[in-house]
Amino acid sequence: MRIPSELVPKCPKCGQPLTMNLRSDDKFVEDEGWLAAAARYENFLKEKQDENVLFLELGVGYNTPSIIKYPFWRMTAQNPRATYACINFGEPLCPTEIERQSICIDGDIGRVLRDLK
Ligand SMILES: [Zn+2]
Repeated sequence: MRIPSELVPKCPKCGQPLTMNLRSDDKFVEDEGWLAAAARYENFLKEKQDENVLFLELGVGYNTPSIIKYPFWRMTAQNPRATYACINFGEPLCPTEIERQSICIDGDIGRVLRDLK
C-alpha cells in the first residue's frame, strides 16, 4: 500500500511534488476555469431549485462538510421534490429533517454501484 516516489506527479516548473487542491489552507486555487465552473454550478442549481433533483453524494466525509454535504442537506430540505442519496463507508448519515427524502447507504462505493447496476 505504498506509492513509489517516482510515480508522484511533479510540478513541471519547480519540480516540487504536486498536492491536491484542498481547502485546507490559504493555497486553494480559484483560477478562471474554477470560477467559470462555479458559475455554471450556481446557475444549474438556481434553474433546478424547484424541480426533481437528486443530490448524489459519494464518499464525502466531515473534513469540509460545508462544501458539499451541508449545502446538499439544505437544498434537499428546501425542495420537497429533491432526494439526497449518500453512499459512505461508515458515515452514511442525514439530518432527521430530510430523512424521508434521503437514501443513505453504508458501504464501499464501487461495490454499491456495481450492485445497483
Ligand atoms: Zn512549481
